[in-house]
Amino acid sequence: MNAQGEDVVAGIRTPQSIDTLKDVMPECYKEFVQICKTLESHYRDMQDMEFTIEDGKLFMLQTRNGKRTAQAAIKIAVDLVKEKVRTKEEALLMVEPKQLDQLLHPMFDADALKKAKVLATGLAASPGAATGKLYFTAEDVKAASEKGEKDLILARLETSPEDIEGMNIAHGILTIRGGMTSHAAVVARGMGKCCVSGAGALNIDYKARTVEIDGVLLKEGDYISLNGSTGVVYKGQVETKAAELSGDFAELMDLADKYTKLQVRTNADTPHDAAVARNFGAIGIGLCRTEHMFFEGDRIKAVREMILASDEQGRRIALAKLLPMQRGDFEGIFEAMDGFGVTIRLLDPPLHEFVPHQTATQKELAKEMGLTLEEVKAKVDSLEEFNPMLGHRGCRLGITYPEITEMQTRAIIEAALAVKARGIDVHPEIMIPLVGSLKEIQNQADVINATAAKVFEEAGTSVPYKVGTMIEVPRAALTANEIATVADFFSFGTNDLTQMTFGFSRDDAPKFLKFYKEHGIIKTDPFEVLDQEGVGQLVRMGVEKGRATKPELKVGICGEHGGEPSSVKFCAKLGMNYVSCSPYRVPIARVAAAQAAIED
Ligand code: PEP
Ligand code: MG
Repeated sequence: MNAQGEDVVAGIRTPQSIDTLKDVMPECYKEFVQICKTLESHYRDMQDMEFTIEDGKLFMLQTRNGKRTAQAAIKIAVDLVKEKVRTKEEALLMVEPKQLDQLLHPMFDADALKKAKVLATGLAASPGAATGKLYFTAEDVKAASEKGEKDLILARLETSPEDIEGMNIAHGILTIRGGMTSHAAVVARGMGKCCVSGAGALNIDYKARTVEIDGVLLKEGDYISLNGSTGVVYKGQVETKAAELSGDFAELMDLADKYTKLQVRTNADTPHDAAVARNFGAIGIGLCRTEHMFFEGDRIKAVREMILASDEQGRRIALAKLLPMQRGDFEGIFEAMDGFGVTIRLLDPPLHEFVPHQTATQKELAKEMGLTLEEVKAKVDSLEEFNPMLGHRGCRLGITYPEITEMQTRAIIEAALAVKARGIDVHPEIMIPLVGSLKEIQNQADVINATAAKVFEEAGTSVPYKVGTMIEVPRAALTANEIATVADFFSFGTNDLTQMTFGFSRDDAPKFLKFYKEHGIIKTDPFEVLDQEGVGQLVRMGVEKGRATKPELKVGICGEHGGEPSSVKFCAKLGMNYVSCSPYRVPIARVAAAQAAIED
């Protein structure tokens, strides 16, 4: 009363609830409610209205569609359908898919956030809110957790598989270097864990165990907070709230499924992730990165033994250790995805992520393998690559060392037979990575088929399986008509396809992409939002050429773009069968897929 809107904005006056008007000026209130109804039914949406009352007369100043949180957006959409103001199609189109992210991860308390001190801004690499004590190595995170400490933040220049255990324990992950598809970002999204990557303004000092910016110094054990949805890093402890899925949310999802033509699968490497994704409505697995299954404990040792082995015999010894681990994991994943397709990709480890660089680890490995430290160091040096992302990875590894493909195929098929015997409806799909030519896929498909035939013969029973390929090297898209003669399915790996089409290294690009964005050279990070104009042409070509050879070819996408709404819509337009994304983005992709069908 007796105040202007500006006084509220300036914080001089606190607004009263609209209800109080009912008692003070009943006539104005009645008129106001009537006008609200008129405006909201005219615009068929929730309105944000400004008004004033002067000498007892009501004046409307402005109306516009109200801004809304994800929770409100869902409630408004569901209510408008119930009130018959909007059709189901219209209501679905009103929800911003990306916004749903807010509902799936813990959130910061809005008031607490306003008061918090901003330290720096990095990339919003994996959404959510994390607040906890700062640690600089995975081992320290683990040690702190063993001491009973709960909320821990792991801060690294960048992460590598050696950090996985610590990442798993940590509440949030902060890196100084690395983009949206850096190791930290991809792994954190997969884990549904908050991550800010590439916060380059922060000065991290491993030796002193400090992080510093503009004279503000945080030491090990000090509190820090990360907003993975905005990329902002805060000093101190900021209060968080757990995510809750309301009934309206489930209703909206059911509605989305009525329209969708595109299936939504998930990228999952563990039975736990598979189960999470299934709860969010994923229909199968579009990408199981088998190298991610080796991150934990002893497993990474066996992988390293395999990588460092000097001959086939040494590799086979290490592979024999990996076989039962893989088989067990696959059984768990098949069980979690009972009735749905599970695409398992053969090993694609960028070697630099797996080779041990720390002397302590090298020592341990030397002992294990009966080698000297010098021999291990020499082997590590010999594996050093100038461009690991373009190096000895993907099918190149399986072609030069077919025993790896043999072991993995055996693990997949044996696991499928085992779960089938327990009554599970299993649909294994074996995927070959980084294929660029017919000869490459043919080579690996031959190994797979020969191994599967052998396992079937030993078992005296069989199970149907598919063999397909990633399309992630530009040449694969260009020659998709030939590759499709061997492949049962294509899955576009748009992370690598973006890297190789632009010639932007996934590891190095963030350094200049930020500048590019700020100076209008690019509108969006192509590793985040699919570049439809350029990379998209290769995707289109791949789909068309593949289906020209094999009309029934199943086609999907499993790069990070599979969970990004505009990219999902592009995939729908191309007539793909499915998109695959990390578990926590499944609901986003489901809504985007439904919108694509409605817009079409
Ligand atoms: C890709 O390249 O898009 C992909 C899914 O594979 P990765 O990210 O494991 O290289
Ligand atoms: Mg790839």
